[in-house]
Amino acid sequence: MTVYIVNPSHVSFGIGVITPRWLYVLAAATPDSAGVPRLIDETLESFDTKVIVAGDVVGIGIHTGNALRGYEIGVAARAAGAYVVFGGIHASLYPDEARELGGAHTVVTGDGDRAWPEVIRDCAAGIPRVLYEGGRLEGDTFLAGRWDLLPAGRYMWASVQTVRGCPKHCSFCSVWRTDGQRPRARHVDHVLDEVVDLRRRGFRFIALADDNFYPVTLEDLRMAARRKDPGQLERLQAIRDERFALMEGLARLPEDTVLFTQITMEAAEDPEFLDAMRRAHIRGALVGVEAVTPEGLKDVYKDFNDSGDALVERLKRFRHHGIHVLGSFIFGLPSDRASTFDATLSVAQRSGVTFAQFVMLTPYPGTLDFAAWEKSLGADPPRIGGVPISRHWLIPQSARPKVYMDHPVMSPDEIRERTQAVWDQFYSLPNIWARSRGSVSKLKARLAFLLISKIYRQMYANTGIATDSARVSRSARWARLMAIPCRRLFAGRPMPDLRIDRPVVESSAPRTLRMASSPPSPRVNVGR
Ligand code: SF4
Repeated sequence: MTVYIVNPSHVSFGIGVITPRWLYVLAAATPDSAGVPRLIDETLESFDTKVIVAGDVVGIGIHTGNALRGYEIGVAARAAGAYVVFGGIHASLYPDEARELGGAHTVVTGDGDRAWPEVIRDCAAGIPRVLYEGGRLEGDTFLAGRWDLLPAGRYMWASVQTVRGCPKHCSFCSVWRTDGQRPRARHVDHVLDEVVDLRRRGFRFIALADDNFYPVTLEDLRMAARRKDPGQLERLQAIRDERFALMEGLARLPEDTVLFTQITMEAAEDPEFLDAMRRAHIRGALVGVEAVTPEGLKDVYKDFNDSGDALVERLKRFRHHGIHVLGSFIFGLPSDRASTFDATLSVAQRSGVTFAQFVMLTPYPGTLDFAAWEKSLGADPPRIGGVPISRHWLIPQSARPKVYMDHPVMSPDEIRERTQAVWDQFYSLPNIWARSRGSVSKLKARLAFLLISKIYRQMYANTGIATDSARVSRSARWARLMAIPCRRLFAGRPMPDLRIDRPVVESSAPRTLRMASSPPSPRVNVGR
């Protein structure tokens, strides 16, 4: 029996930007009795399902974007006589679909780390159940990845998770509903062990693949103090203390380490946190800006963000503290107008973000937007090739629309063309070159910056937005070619003897209780 764990993708680049961490975590969860699992990442190359034989176990993890390719693999694996197991966000939301269209014998919902060994044992015994409920694991039980199984020289960035869950409730995002709103942080020592392991293997660039690295804001603490809720204040302060302890540990990594994460914009108001990030080698962060107008922010339930010039100033603050920003913007919100595209480009350029992504609003299952949109379509939604658009992920890639939600004043083509134009302008050669001056100093580094910017654009803009299939495959080919020299830029020297001291994680209870009993201005400086 061979165990395959598959990350499906309809497009392959030969080189991956970030390691799909979940493959390596499930490999760690695979029982020894099943042998060493075969990890298949189709973003590197497509999977030849002919190698599957009867009795094998094929685990396929899907999100909505790659569900259709996942189902193709599942059907082929079942036809070959293998046990087919689906997991991931999409399978958790639509377990029946994975059975009906993907040939699944069984589906694992929620966090798969603990359920996976049981699934393997049941398959080996020929008695898999139809459903395994993984639930939400506590942070101290998250597994480290089996990085000894990484193929050499195929990924630019490694990935480590430090916290799961996000307390916000953005309307376009499913994270807070699938991973929950209570942050579940991993033990600091476990994160550091894994990061050190990856540095020993030669990864200098590591993504902290978290839902939200900044789960407690200063405003959260102030609100808990105002409400005179000592229990909540203590919980929040403990989470904040743990973040600082983690960053103190990360600060002991070799100087040339580069970490990247995702945070909310509120971190700009927290200079102590930003300075700790910089010391911890966190050089960049994806920040969900989403919209540049107050109306747009209201559309996505993100009115904790700023708009206009205040937004520009807030984003600049990250750079002042040494954190590069990958700004994420959404187009196609109901309040967007033709002028919104230029205004967004202007904010992206004036605010000094180093990279930007401009995505079109897409109703993804599990989100509030999807629920409202699906309801608005009624009992008989429009169809494409017989597939209702409320199941857009089942429409073949080449026929899949790029914009789904009706817009009050713009056509889907107008939104798509204007979005593409913003990508083109932000990533034009003169604009990238100008940005490189503010980001790096040496000529060689500026050329590297240019290459990375271009490859980012090819991988994420042209393959995602273009409707013309020739343009999509040209972009994929170009990205494939450029990914090889680009990966070399990220490679580090293996450091097999690396060791770092561990910070002492201080209990926050006495301090927060003190704060709760005398709350006029909550002390958020944890005083490390
Ligand atoms: S978009 Fe970001 S901040 Fe909003 S709910 Fe999702 S993870 Fe949290």
